[in-house]
Formats: sequence, C-alpha cells, structure tokens
Amino acid sequence: MAGMRTPGTDLATRIVQHDYVPPAGFAAPQPGVYKASTVIFPNVAAMRARDWRDRSGYTYGLHGTPTTFTLEERLCTLEGGLQCVLAPSGLAAIANVALALLNPGDELLLPDNVYGPSKDLAHDELARLGISHGLYDPLEPADLAARITPATRLVWLEAPGSVSMEFPDLRELVRICRARAVRTALDNTWGAGLAFAPFDLLGDGSLGVDICVHALTKYPSGGGDVLMGSVITRDAALHTQIRRTHMRLGLGVAGNDAEAVLRGLPSLGLRYRAHDAAARSLALWLQQQPAVAQVLHPALAGSPGHAHWQALCGAGPGGQGLAAGLFSVLIDARHSAQQVDAFCDGLRLFKLGYSWGGPMSLVVPYHIASMRSRCVAHLKQGTLVRFSIGLEAVQDLQQDLQQAMERAFPAA
Ligand SMILES: *Cc1c(COP(=O)(O)O)cnc(C)c1O
Repeated sequence: MAGMRTPGTDLATRIVQHDYVPPAGFAAPQPGVYKASTVIFPNVAAMRARDWRDRSGYTYGLHGTPTTFTLEERLCTLEGGLQCVLAPSGLAAIANVALALLNPGDELLLPDNVYGPSKDLAHDELARLGISHGLYDPLEPADLAARITPATRLVWLEAPGSVSMEFPDLRELVRICRARAVRTALDNTWGAGLAFAPFDLLGDGSLGVDICVHALTKYPSGGGDVLMGSVITRDAALHTQIRRTHMRLGLGVAGNDAEAVLRGLPSLGLRYRAHDAAARSLALWLQQQPAVAQVLHPALAGSPGHAHWQALCGAGPGGQGLAAGLFSVLIDARHSAQQVDAFCDGLRLFKLGYSWGGPMSLVVPYHIASMRSRCVAHLKQGTLVRFSIGLEAVQDLQQDLQQAMERAFPAA
C-alpha cells in the first residue's frame, strides 16, 4: 500500500500487518461497517494536523468512524438538523446536553411529565453540581413563562410525555423560550423525526428547537436490541460545545451498534405507520371497555393536548396525521391495583417490559401518583397502564387484551 510502512518478515508480524486495501468499485445498499479504537495516520504531520472536531478526517474511534459519520448524517436528514453526536443510550444523550450547557447556579426547567430518568438526573447529579431545576405544567405555557428566571439556561421539552401522554403546545413553549433567549432541548423519541419537524415547527423555517435528542433505542433501532441516543443541532458553535463534553465524558458508540441502527432506518417510516395504525385501533377499542376510565393517546379526541397534536402532527396524507404506537389507559378506580397487576400478568402476547418501538408489544403498570407532583387535574382517577404496540396482528392483540380484562375485571 502506497505510503504505508513496510511489513516485517515474521509470520507474527505479517498476520497483524495485512496489506488491506478498502474495496474500490464495490457498492451495496447498506454501507460497510468500520470498527476502530485506533485510527492509523500516514505520517506525523497528518497526526498533528487532524482535529477531532473536524469531520474531514478521522482521529480515534471514539470520535467517529465512517460508519458512525454515516449514521449521524442520516439522522440529521431525518430530523432536519445539521450536526449530530451519538451517545451509548438515550439517557446518555440527555445527560450530555445537560452537562455541556449548564453551570453551577444555572437552572433547568423540565415538564412535569418528563421521561422519569431525566427528572432523576436533575434531582441528583445536576443538583450535586449546583444546578437547580424546576417543573412546569406542560399543558400551561403561561406556567412555563412564569417560571423562567434570569438563571434559567435550558428548557426541556417532550411531546408528548411518554407515560401520561399529554401533548403540549410545543410551538408556544418554544416561542416563549425564544422571546426570553433561553435554549430549548426536545426529547423527540416519540415523534422519531416523522410525526413533526422539530427544527421547523411552523413549516416555514421560522421556529424550531435548539437541540433535538432522540433515544434511537426505540423506533430507529426497531428491534429492542440496541441502546443508542443522538443529539442533533443546527448551530455549529452549540454542536461543538456539546461535542466537547461528549469527548471529555468518553461517550461514543460501537460500529456494530451503529450498523444495527443504519439497518433499521430504511424501514422506519413503514414501521412507525404500522405501529400507529394498530395503536389507534386498539386505543379506540379500549375506550369502549367498561373497566377503562380514560384512554391517553394524543391522536384521540378528548385526550389531554389533542388539539396541540392535531395542529402539529395532524396534517399529512388522508388528514390522519402521525403518532407513535404508544398510549396509556387509566383503569377505573373501582378496580384495585392488585386487579390491574393481575390484568397485566394475564396478558399473553403483551410482554412486561420497559422501552418501546420494537416488534413485540409491551405493557407496564405505572404508579402515577408517585411520579407526578402536580399538574394531574386532567387525569381521571385510576391505575395507569401503558402499552407499546408492536407489529403483531392487531386482532390478536385485541383478543389478548379482551381475555385478560374479562378475567381481571369480571362484570359486576
Ligand atoms: C427510552 C427513552 C429515553 C432513554 O433512552 P435509553 O436509550 O433507554 O437510555 C429517553 N427519552 C424517552 C422519551 C424514552 O422513551
């Protein structure tokens, strides 16, 4: 290989120093998988010249390979961003943003229905660093406006909250933050880059979030077998700030995991629509069941924040809009928590497990009272059960729900 050092003569040397030449003229639907910790430089000058911030060259596996750069570019296309970093989980991506942007004395505002571990991160690690946080009512933009102080440096957004499913007026929340010059970071795992455009909330390029975090663990992976997160921006300086912290914390992803997400992306749109259609059909059916006091699905009329979902995600082919295959129900308070546990245990196709976005339908009972301090007036009394609808046949899932309900909640 031109420019490479001469291999030795011993077999032990030659078996390591193989004259590998990357294939030219080879094309396939999927990109190749590159894996590296060490990246080899042709000479010392190149070693000194290359910078980990500069995507024109490679420096060390943790800072990127052709495989991770390809995934970053495709995720930017998906979410409408310009720069991306990949983290080993969605939660690591969330922590990366907080640690990059917040200093002692700063304040973070979170929606009261935020992804639970985000709240725990603020409550513990961030608090220990002298970063305070407050909780705002996601359905009351005026509440957010009233809570922003000169110390507020970051407002976290989630649309909808992934357990109680309230859909906020995202446009108004972002407008409020813009007017007060406070940065916004959206957890876009539910929308997956498909239900709405996080960096273009009005469709004319005039309004968007500053940072978009995505748990790729969910829909982009689609298999329930990969953990990964992304942080996407449209501002080079902001990206560099996040990337610096990313590097110092040693965050990065492995080539095989990046490849698994790259394999999932081409079918993302089809899968999302299938999960959506099945979830809406089951949510409508559950609305008619006597044991169910309330169905929480932003695409269903009467669900908290439905009008905001309609405004942001409701257009599109057929006017049906798009929503993830995730929803919750509140089981009527006349049924005990033990009965609700028995219902979940009695399901055969729905498995008990956290996460969502994979092919297998999942169920989790949540104790909502211990998760939410306030802002729950719109929720009926009862025990919350969340469903992630997979890719099984919808009539099988409905039958499964029916048999488990009949046994756990016998008619009076
Ligand atoms: C799962 C999830 C995360 C975290 O993703 P992990 O990869 O499991 O760490 C963050 N936000 C939301 C809304 C999620 O559902």
